[in-house]
Amino acid sequence: MRPALLDRLFAPATVLPGIGPQLGRLIERAAGPLVVDLLWHLPAGLVDRRAAPPIGALNPRDWPDAIVTVKATVERHQPGFGRRPSRVVCGDGTGTLTLVYFNVKGEQLLRLLPIGAERIISGRVEYYGGAPQMAHPDHVVAPDLADQVRAIEPVYPLTAGLSSRIVAKAVAAALGRAPEVPEWLDPAWRARRRWPGWGEALAAAHAPQSEADLAPASPARERLAYDEILASQLAVALVRARRRSRRGRILAGTGALQSRAEAEFGFALTGSQRQAVAEIAGDMMAPRRMMRLLQGDVGSGKTVVALVAMLIAVESGAQAALLAPTEMLARQHHQVLQRLAAPAGVEIGLLTGREKGRARDSMLASLASGLTPVVVGTHALVQPDVAFRDLGLAVIDEQHRFGVEQRLALTAKGQDCDTLLMSATPIPRTLMMTAYGDLDVSRLVEKPPGRRPVDTRAVPLDRFDEVSGAVARALARNGGSNEAKLFWVCPMVEESETTDIAAAEERYRALSEMLPGRVGLVHGRMKGADKDRAMAQFAGGSVDLLVATTVIEVGIDVPAATVMVIEHAERFGLAQLHQLRGRIGRGDRQSTCLLLYQSPLGDIARQRLAILRETEDGFRIAEEDLRLRGGGEALGTRQSGLPALRLADLAQHEGLVAVAHDDARLILERDPQLTSPRGEALRLLLYLFRRDEAVQYLRAG
Ligand code: ADP
Ligand code: MG
Repeated sequence: MRPALLDRLFAPATVLPGIGPQLGRLIERAAGPLVVDLLWHLPAGLVDRRAAPPIGALNPRDWPDAIVTVKATVERHQPGFGRRPSRVVCGDGTGTLTLVYFNVKGEQLLRLLPIGAERIISGRVEYYGGAPQMAHPDHVVAPDLADQVRAIEPVYPLTAGLSSRIVAKAVAAALGRAPEVPEWLDPAWRARRRWPGWGEALAAAHAPQSEADLAPASPARERLAYDEILASQLAVALVRARRRSRRGRILAGTGALQSRAEAEFGFALTGSQRQAVAEIAGDMMAPRRMMRLLQGDVGSGKTVVALVAMLIAVESGAQAALLAPTEMLARQHHQVLQRLAAPAGVEIGLLTGREKGRARDSMLASLASGLTPVVVGTHALVQPDVAFRDLGLAVIDEQHRFGVEQRLALTAKGQDCDTLLMSATPIPRTLMMTAYGDLDVSRLVEKPPGRRPVDTRAVPLDRFDEVSGAVARALARNGGSNEAKLFWVCPMVEESETTDIAAAEERYRALSEMLPGRVGLVHGRMKGADKDRAMAQFAGGSVDLLVATTVIEVGIDVPAATVMVIEHAERFGLAQLHQLRGRIGRGDRQSTCLLLYQSPLGDIARQRLAILRETEDGFRIAEEDLRLRGGGEALGTRQSGLPALRLADLAQHEGLVAVAHDDARLILERDPQLTSPRGEALRLLLYLFRRDEAVQYLRAG
């Protein structure tokens, strides 16, 4: 239960004065539904209203487009009519300033600016024929209310219909509801960083006095960011401790099937693969539930590692299942695994949405009886009527494509089932610690031997004809020898899949004219069977050039593909480009990747393409991606399904993550149930950042 101390922060924002249901909805959109969300809604800028020159001093040279605050007496009103704005002339003895209002009623203006009254007026000054005027001043108040105009005003991220002033008022009210809290940070560490206390940090973060106060490295913002990171690290550490304390089963294996299969692989495992296998085998043998993530670039050999893990399960008398995100991938895995497992005499079943009727029934029967020891499939595997005799290992490929429920639905079909997650998205360490800190991780950092680096080039789109001509000539020369295959990736036009497909179809038609009968097309809207046919024709048949949208991003293996053209490469993210490029360079021949870009390139796009040309190391690319995009945007955060960080920016506060990671570990080592005074304070911190679930893992304190 959340401590009552925090109740006032966990009330809906509509409890704040002046925030009704309508503003409440807008605030919810901009910041979040609760009062506490407003605390985390930090200013994005500031307006400095300290300049207060006499009106006579205002001129376009000294005060061009400046924000100024003046004290003046209202002299006269010139009502507007039709499209003409209303004008109010004010003076301070040194000169006059004209206030300009569009679409404001005369009476309303007279009430705001009665003739003869003195007013404090603040806003942006403009000049009309050299005379100063101000359209819709930001503030107009009577002198006795001057303190309503803040000398330096925070500017908040907004949503349509919401003004910064309303948000500022709501935030001020929210700050007023923030309780005194005990310090949860280590005092020595806080002193070393010269960080303010929590309440003070919040107040300061919402009252920036200069640009420096808005920087992520300002003491107030840094402290709040650390609080958030620490909460997340602590939560993750608690979840992990809890998982590790759960009983699992012992799948020790015998090595018999492994050695028979490995003998026929035709290659030796790489060092990384051997290490991953050892780590997985260790987990499976231990009487705990395995929850391990196997990370490695496309082509780094994850499938082989998964196979060995599945054979360990089979050797131990259990079954194994591999869940793939698409039909295409499931079929490909099935084919590869069948070939690799055949020498060990292990049969691999297949279950996708396309297995229907009798075929499906017999597969279900054979899984239930244990006759089929290993099965590969799609979502069809998690249907309620799928049962195993004894599922011991669930392997989940491209794990980010599945929700937690789907993973659980599969493992729930076994008894204390071990889980191996696989991901071809290399995730930077910092992100790993925040998003997946509760998992054990194995990384495949080296590629199988014999791969040649891909020759990556950036080519401006205005050389498009040259490129397509060269491609057509090269393929024509090749004359269907099945030697060189080419991927042509079409741009992401918008978020909408339909427009992507239209672009791909158009490119398909144009290229088909140059190379009749040898161009294929694959996109996300095609039916499974059509997609498979297109892929099969490309992999081994008459099609040499495959036009594709990003559906080819994941997992497809066509070793003969040696060229990839990516149109509008500047529109893709770095990690995505890396994944796409991973489709080529899988055989032992030289491969080329052409990144066609629209000039002029923005600064970030230019850096992205440069990094891509420089390296093929997925982990390094992921680090750079994080740096270029900033933490919130980075792939991993969005895909993790975990609450995004609001105060911390993983790119900016990178160094804090490792510290918080160690801090959290140390805290739980000394005080595993968080019962010390600092522990109690840390419980508050967890609740503050909505890590209620993690607190539940503590015994009632
Ligand atoms: P991933 O699943 O990580 O994309 P795969 O397991 O599909 O990678 O492996 C890519 C290719 O490399 C496959 O053709 C596979 O047979 C081959 N391969 C895997 N491990 C090795 C190795 N140690 N030596 C040589 N080739 C390997
Ligand atoms: Mg794979």
